[in-house]
Amino acid sequence: MTAGPVDVLVLGLGPAGACAARFAALRGCRVVAVERKRSPGVPVQCAEFVPALVGIEVPRLAGSVRQSIAAMQTFVEDDPPDRTDPFPGLMIDRAAFDASLVAEAQRAGADCRFGTRAAGIERDGRVRLADGSCWAPKVIIGADGPRSLAGRSIGQANRALVETRQVTVALEGSHDSTDIFLSARIPGGYGWVFPKGDIAHVGAGVDPVHKVRLKAIVDELHALLARRGRVGRGVLSRTGGAIPVGGMVEPWGTLGEALVLLAGDAAGLAHPVMGAGIAPAVHSGRLAGEAAAAAIAGDRAACLDYEDELDAVFGAAWSRAVIRRRELLASSNDKRALRRAWIAYPGYWEPP
Ligand SMILES: Cc1cc2nc3c(=O)[nH]c(=O)nc-3n(C[C@H](O)[C@H](O)[C@H](O)COP(=O)(O)OP(=O)(O)OC[C@H]3O[C@@H](n4cnc5c(N)ncnc54)[C@H](O)[C@@H]3O)c2cc1C
Repeated sequence: MTAGPVDVLVLGLGPAGACAARFAALRGCRVVAVERKRSPGVPVQCAEFVPALVGIEVPRLAGSVRQSIAAMQTFVEDDPPDRTDPFPGLMIDRAAFDASLVAEAQRAGADCRFGTRAAGIERDGRVRLADGSCWAPKVIIGADGPRSLAGRSIGQANRALVETRQVTVALEGSHDSTDIFLSARIPGGYGWVFPKGDIAHVGAGVDPVHKVRLKAIVDELHALLARRGRVGRGVLSRTGGAIPVGGMVEPWGTLGEALVLLAGDAAGLAHPVMGAGIAPAVHSGRLAGEAAAAAIAGDRAACLDYEDELDAVFGAAWSRAVIRRRELLASSNDKRALRRAWIAYPGYWEPP
């Protein structure tokens, strides 16, 4: 069954897809966006921290904010923490955040469909959905996360991933910093405690070869914090997932007559050291939506301009992070190496 005419088909309605759908629709495109989840952002797979500056690009952000963050504390092995202050950020309700971005896309005129999975992309640019329909859009926007189907269809799969696990627990007392734990016992990643009102997310990310140890790593961090009286012993919920850490991939390609643009995690835009990808997803989603509209209007350089824009905003920071990550993986994980691979320390910012 071939579906009706559409200019832009967006795969995935996380922050990148919702913003892409919104901006393509605002520029007059007929937009359909499909998301395999039944409702926006659920289940939540996130520690829910965003830099305060994300508010510039997100309308009605206040409705999703649950607490402010003032600083970052970094714990290296058993040393006393180093405090980075100010480190302004917000803890959000990620499901509410994603839902509000989808509502903006719908207000702009995008047709957003949940419980609808993209099952395959043909070499001629036709997209098959799991419901049996087949679409032939002028532009496909792949905003379908770290293991993007759209990315793979143009030979641009993410080069490296980190695997994560997180438990949500009761927080004893208030806390205004994101706490980061660097240790040889958390190889290729870090542990975190992010406070959100009266709860906290306790988690860790590691290089995939150590995935089998993730549960023990997070349980150990949780037990340590519970012994110190910082969090409760009970687990309220669990989550996890993959984060791309290999740096930006080539964010566009063609399949037959169709242009394919990648945004957010699908384009490798989570920070390769910190794993933060919400703000880059929002920004790249907007740029992808605008580039799609420009391409449909006949601008043949729109995809190159899109790549240049992404490179201008993220290129230098992501390149440095990829190098620091590579150095860390090749190191013996001593304290000096751990510090050099974390943004709170001067060594991170030395010329690579
Ligand atoms: C445990 C964890 C904690 C994190 N914590 C933070 C944090 O605190 N701060 C931060 O900035 N970042 C964090 N991140 C990273 C952040 O969640 C991502 O970078 C961000 O969600 C990227 O947005 P996106 O829209 O590109 O992708 P996603 O949010 O992953 O959205 C992609 C969407 O595509 C859908 N999809 C995939 N395949 C298909 C298909 N075939 N058909 C239809 N739909 C499909 C998925 O269901 C998903 O909803 C965390 C990640 C994890 C795993």
